[in-house]
Amino acid sequence: MAEQAYKLLIGGNLVDGDSTMDVINPATEAVFTQAPRASEAQLNDAVAAAKAAFPAWAATPIDERRKVITAIADAVEANYEDFARLLTQEQGKPLQDATGEVLGTVAFMRYFAGLDMPVKVLDDSEGRRVEAHRKPLGVIGAIVPWNFPMILMAFKLPPALLAGNTVVLKPAPTTPLTTLKLAGLMKDIVPAGVVNVITDANDLGAPLTAHPDIRKVSFTGSTSTGAKVMAGAANLLKRITLELGGNDAGIVLDDVNPKETAPQLFQSAFQNSGQVCIAMKRLYVHESIYDEMCAELAKLAEDAIIGDGLEQGTQLGPLQNKMQYDKVKDLIEDARKDGQIIAGGTTPDQKGYFIRPTIVRDISDGTRLVDEEQFGPVLPVIKYSDPEDAVARANASPYGLGGSVWSKDTDRAYALADKMDAGTIWVNKHAELDPMIPFGGSKMSGVGTELGADGLEEFTQLKIINMAR
Ligand code: NAD
Repeated sequence: MAEQAYKLLIGGNLVDGDSTMDVINPATEAVFTQAPRASEAQLNDAVAAAKAAFPAWAATPIDERRKVITAIADAVEANYEDFARLLTQEQGKPLQDATGEVLGTVAFMRYFAGLDMPVKVLDDSEGRRVEAHRKPLGVIGAIVPWNFPMILMAFKLPPALLAGNTVVLKPAPTTPLTTLKLAGLMKDIVPAGVVNVITDANDLGAPLTAHPDIRKVSFTGSTSTGAKVMAGAANLLKRITLELGGNDAGIVLDDVNPKETAPQLFQSAFQNSGQVCIAMKRLYVHESIYDEMCAELAKLAEDAIIGDGLEQGTQLGPLQNKMQYDKVKDLIEDARKDGQIIAGGTTPDQKGYFIRPTIVRDISDGTRLVDEEQFGPVLPVIKYSDPEDAVARANASPYGLGGSVWSKDTDRAYALADKMDAGTIWVNKHAELDPMIPFGGSKMSGVGTELGADGLEEFTQLKIINMAR
C-alpha cells in the first residue's frame, strides 16, 4: 500500500490506517483523495494511548492545558484558508461558509481556553468546610457528524482537554479530512496520547462507545444513532452527552412584514443547504400573511445560486452525501401529493448531489415532510389561524432542539416562546449559536448540554470534600 497523505494520530504518532477509503467531493461526485481507515485494533491502540496519557494530563496545571488549547487554535487560524478549502471540498459548503466555520472553530477553542474551574466553597462554618471540585473523567470518546465537521468538534475537544481528560476523536466517514489535517498539526502541540484521531467507514462508533476504557461519550449525530450510543454506554454507566436531530418550528405572527422577514427565514432554513441540526425545518405562518410570505420565500429560492462551493458566488452547495441526497429527494417526491411545490423540487442536470431549494405550501402536520427531519434544502410552509394552536403543533413533535417566534411585538413573541418546548427558542432570529450560551435539546433531541460553563462541567466529575472542624 502506498503511503497515505492523511494520517491517523495515535499515541503521539501519525500513522497510516490499516486500510484506506475514498473521499468523495459532493459537488462533483468524484473521488478526490483517500483517507486512512482505522481498524478496530487501531481504535484499541488509540484508547490505550489516551488511557496511558490521562494521569499526567489530568495532573498538568490548568494554565498549561489552556496553553495547549490556545496553541491548537493558533495553528488552525494560521492555516485557516487551507482548512476552509478542504472543508468545502469534503463537505460541499460554499467557501465563505467554510471560512466562517473554520474561524468559528478558532473562536470556540479560544472561548474554552479562557474558562476556569475554581473550587467552590459550599460551606465554611465552625463545624465544617465543604468544597466542590471538578475532576476530569478519563478518556472521552468524541463522535462528530458530517454537516459541520470542524465546529462541532470544537464543542467537544477544547472543553474535554481543559477539564483534564484525554480524547479519542472520530469524525464522520464522509468528512474525515479536516479532522485529519488538524491531527497533523496537533501532533507537535499536544503531549503524546492526549488527543488521538481515528477515522472509520461507519464501523468504529459502536466499539468506541462500548470500549471499557472510555468514560464518557460526547456524541453529535442522528437521534437513531444517539439511542444506540445510549444503549452502548449503559453497561458501564458511562457519562453521555447526546446532541441529536431536530425539527425546529418557526412561528410567524400576523404583524410580520413578509418582504422584510423572508430573507432571514430563508437563511434560517437553507444555510448549509438545510443540513443544520437547528435549521428551521417547519414554518408556521399566520393565514393573513401566508400567501405573501410563500411568494417571498419562493422568489428567494428561485434566485438562490447553487453550485460548487469553490466557485465564487455560490450560495448553496450540494447535499453532503448520496444517502442524504436520496433521502431528501424522496421526501420531496412524497410532499408532491400532500402540498404544492412553488419553488425548486428539482435536481439540476449536472454531476453533484444538488437539489434546488424547495418551498412547499398548502401542506400540514401529519405528512412526512412536516413530521420528519428533512435535513436538506426543502421547507414546508404551514398555514395557521390561532397562535396557541401553532405552538401546540410545534410542540407535538418527538424532537425539541430549537424553535423561534417572529413578531414586531416582542412581548407577544416572548409569551409564545415561553410555551414552546425545546432547548433553545429564539425571538426574531433562528439558529444563533455562541460558545458562551449553553446548547442542548429536549425530548428526543438530546441528553445534556454543550457549550458555556455547563458544557465544560459535563466533561467533569463533581467531587465534594467535606471536612469536619
Ligand atoms: P449519524 O448519527 O449517522 O452519524 C454521526 C456519527 O456517529 C458519525 O461519526 C458516525 O460514524 C457515528 N456512528 C455511526 N454509528 C454509530 C454507533 N452505532 N455508535 C456510535 N457512533 C456511531 O448522523 P449524521 O447523519 O452524520 O448527522 C446528521 C444528524 O446529526 C442529523 O439528525 C442532525 O440533526 C444531527 N445533528 C445534531 C446536532 C446537534 O447539535 N443536536 C448537530 C449536528 C447534527
